[in-house]
Amino acid sequence: MAEELLRKYTLRKTNCRLEVLTLLLQNKHALAHSEIEKQLENRFDRVTIYRTLHAFEEKGLAHSINDVSGAMKYALCQDACKEHEHQDNHIHFNCTSCGQTFCLNEVLVPAPTLPEGYKVHSINFSAQGLCVSCQEVT
Ligand SMILES: [Zn+2]
Ligand SMILES: [Zn+2]
Ligand SMILES: [Zn+2]
Repeated sequence: MAEELLRKYTLRKTNCRLEVLTLLLQNKHALAHSEIEKQLENRFDRVTIYRTLHAFEEKGLAHSINDVSGAMKYALCQDACKEHEHQDNHIHFNCTSCGQTFCLNEVLVPAPTLPEGYKVHSINFSAQGLCVSCQEVT
């Protein structure tokens, strides 16, 4: 799956790219840089991971989310995203209890019409509250 995706997005296959992509595919929530590093047990250095995420974002494979926690998080994009042209106009849900961020891909917000001369590179809509698993506990 990860290998296929790299090919589809014309990204050269490297171990780091494969592993980061696999993590993004496995997790339902968006991943912060530090979380990726930890899950990969420091097998790759910060810079390599940073470059990998940057390449994914450039190609339209993943998008970054400016999380309310202050950490930048990453999640996979839907098919609509293209190189240098993200269309992630879905809600990002921040759970105030577990701190995770989820892409609500099916909850779309219409892309705003901007005044002339402005060009969108990425859009972030966020909502705060309790996620499904945290609500079950209370
Ligand atoms: Zn995107
Ligand atoms: Zn939660
Ligand atoms: Zn998202």
